[in-house]
Amino acid sequence: MGVRRVRALPPALSAHGDPVAPRGSADRRFNLHGVSEVHRTVPGRSAGDGAAGVTSRHCDVLVIGGGPAGLIAAREVASRDPGLDVLLIERDRAIGSPVRCGEGVGSAGLAEFMDPAGAPWVSRRVTRVIFRAPGGLEVRVADGDVGYILDRARFEPTIAAEAGGLGVDIQVGTEATGIARSPGGWTATLRARHGARTVAARLVICADGVEGMAGRWAGLDTRVPARDMESCAQYVVSAIDFDPEAIYLHFGHSIAPGGYAWVFPKGNATANVGLGIVALHAERGRTARDYLDRYLAAYFPTGVTTGYTVGGVIVHPTIRQTVTDGLIVCGDAAHMINPLSGGGIVNAMKAGRLAAHVAVDALRAGDCSAPRLERYHAEWMAMLGDDHVRFHKLKDTLARFDDAFLDGLARTVNEIPLAERTLRRIFVAALTRHPSLLPVVVKYFV
Ligand code: FAD
Repeated sequence: MGVRRVRALPPALSAHGDPVAPRGSADRRFNLHGVSEVHRTVPGRSAGDGAAGVTSRHCDVLVIGGGPAGLIAAREVASRDPGLDVLLIERDRAIGSPVRCGEGVGSAGLAEFMDPAGAPWVSRRVTRVIFRAPGGLEVRVADGDVGYILDRARFEPTIAAEAGGLGVDIQVGTEATGIARSPGGWTATLRARHGARTVAARLVICADGVEGMAGRWAGLDTRVPARDMESCAQYVVSAIDFDPEAIYLHFGHSIAPGGYAWVFPKGNATANVGLGIVALHAERGRTARDYLDRYLAAYFPTGVTTGYTVGGVIVHPTIRQTVTDGLIVCGDAAHMINPLSGGGIVNAMKAGRLAAHVAVDALRAGDCSAPRLERYHAEWMAMLGDDHVRFHKLKDTLARFDDAFLDGLARTVNEIPLAERTLRRIFVAALTRHPSLLPVVVKYFV
């Protein structure tokens, strides 16, 4: 465990006194991306409230955000170099809550970070994936060791406990309200229960999620085009009938324009039932929740809803620049979600790990300059980012297919025996029977 150096710092930087800091207005996030649901605000002062109650601290690495990206980043920095002083701040009052997620992850990706065997943070193991065409025809597309439905309210605290055990200082109910360049790194203004204070860090890892502002405060372009922002709504629904080892993905313009509906099992008769829509494709004035209510009425009319959440999913490729001097952005904050599936948990963890490795190497070398950190961006693009660019284009094209086409495609795929239903064969069959797909595949995959 590292020794924490606690030194006096100058008073909190004014949010208006630095060319970078003005971007740090805490309140701007509420309208970002037009997502109405936001994290609860930590009681306290705004960034520019002055020096009252200011305390200061130095650290080697400041991680902003305690989701999968930030937690894995913090854990990996601490495990690679126990001598580094790592501070992770999370603005919500609890790590992992409130849950704003379908909680589905693939087995292979998860296993890179955590062992799910017998873990209390697993809600269900998933052995089947079932696509549903708009008309209701079901197509099984995967069987076997598919993945898990997490219990994120337990999953993330487990990672946090591991990180804390390695010496990471985790502070909940603590929000970054701005960051500004300072000699040797960055100074962040924080607000928490006891008011505003500052922390100086040699390197900052921004893992502040879909509503994250820290990258933008640092001058990076994290804007999302409206067409690449999905609005999602989800109920936890009990007393419903479905295959508890399967995840269902239901497509169709009438069901979820620009996205899809999902049923992810939490228990034998309980599931996360949600959907994502792109507002530009939706009927005027209809929200994701309106679509979800209609979906529930049609498919689970007797279900008992015990929970509700809404949130935004960025289905846009990785931002063009994920690093600047002394700063790395990862996870949703850097648009690292799979634009086709909308899944981002494992991606966030992979990015967090990569950020940690690059950060530790840079800190050890005493060089946290942007050129040194650029390796993070290059390795991310090679690992997943370049695929996301292709998926993003494909998503655009698929959005143009109408419900009749999707119903036809489902019938075609169902003619392939289940055991032979690999993605490659599905593609070949689809191309043979639906030649209109050919230009799409040639354009984006060849
Ligand atoms: P987050 O998990 O969002 O974590 C960021 C954290 O930073 C938050 O806890 C936030 O409170 C904190 N924070 C933000 N700003 C500050 C600040 N200024 N100071 C301090 N802390 C701050 N992905 C999947 O893989 N599978 C799914 O089934 C799935 N379903 C989804 C369903 C819905 C309805 C939604 C909205 C998303 C879903 N996702 C899913 C996406 C997934 O939730 C994200 O991709 C994932 O959580 C990204 O992790 P992250 O660490 O980058 O960001």
